[in-house]
Amino acid sequence: GAGSIGVDVGGTKIAVGVLIGEELREFHTHPTPDTGWRGVLDAVAALVRPLMEKYEGVRTVGLGIPGPISQDRARVLFAPNIYGFNDVPVVEGLQERLGLTVSMENDAKVAALAEATLGAARGSSSVYITVSTGIGSGIVLNGRLWRGFHGIAGELGHVVSVPGGPVSGAGQSGTLEAVASGTAIARDASFALNRDVSTAEAFALAQKGDRIALRVVRGAMTRIGLAVADLQKVLDPEVFVIGGGVAGVGEFFFDHVQAAADEAAEGFARPQIRPALLGSQAGVIGAALSARIELTP
Ligand code: BGC
Repeated sequence: GAGSIGVDVGGTKIAVGVLIGEELREFHTHPTPDTGWRGVLDAVAALVRPLMEKYEGVRTVGLGIPGPISQDRARVLFAPNIYGFNDVPVVEGLQERLGLTVSMENDAKVAALAEATLGAARGSSSVYITVSTGIGSGIVLNGRLWRGFHGIAGELGHVVSVPGGPVSGAGQSGTLEAVASGTAIARDASFALNRDVSTAEAFALAQKGDRIALRVVRGAMTRIGLAVADLQKVLDPEVFVIGGGVAGVGEFFFDHVQAAADEAAEGFARPQIRPALLGSQAGVIGAALSARIELTP
C-alpha cells in the first residue's frame, strides 16, 4: 500500500514515524544507545514494533543512517559521528529483528528526497545540505536521488575545505565537516573564548556582537557558502536547501552563507538557497519515501 515506516538514526536520537500518502501520522524519538550497532538496532526494533501492530497494512520499513553505505545498500561503511558502526550488516540485522524487508539509505540522501518531494525543493532539481554534528548532502536530479556509482555521492562533509586543517572523525584533514560543522564551531569557539562554548552559544554571542565568536561562526558560514558555490558550478541545480541544527539559527546563518556563495559564484549563476521546510522530520519522511520507492514492486 501507500504506507511505510521511516526510521532516522542520528548520533543523539533515533526518530521513527509512519507516512501514509503524504501525511506523517506518527513521530517518536528515543536517545541513541552508545552500546554499538546491535544495541542501536535493538532500540530501532523496539520503536518500530508497536507501529507494525497499530498499522497492520504497513509492511515496508526505510532506514536513514548518518554515514556512507555500501553499493548494494546492505552495509554501513562507517558513521563518523556515532559509535560502533564500522562495516556492519545493518539491513540483515534489522530484518532479523523485525521479520520484514528493510531498505537502507544515507540520512542526508533521504532528507534530500523528502525536501524535494514534500518540502522546500518540490519539483526542482536540488541539492540538500545538512549542517549539524556532521555535514552531509543529497542530490536529487529530475525527481530521482543521485546515489553515484558506489553510492557515496553527496559526501560533502568530506571534501577538502582548508588544506592541512584539522582532522575529522573520518580521518581526513581540513574537510568541510572538520572546519564548519556544529562540532567544529563549538570546538573553535571554546578554544578562542577559552571556556566551554556550545554551537548555539557561539551563534548567540556572535549575534550580540562578540568579536571573537563572530570570527569563528563567520569562518564556518563562509566555508559552507564556498561549498555551495562549488556545487553550483559543478552540478548547477535549481535550488539548494539547507537544514540541520546549525541552519536552524535562521536568517543570520542564511544571509551570510548566501553572501559568501554569491561572491564565489559571481559571473556564473546565483545559487538559490532556501531553508529546509520539514525540520527534524525530514529524515523520517525521506526514509519512508525511500522505502516506498525501493520496496514497492
Ligand atoms: C557522514 C554523512 C552524513 C552526515 C550527516 C557525515 O559525517 O559522512 O554520511 O550524511 O555526516 O549526518
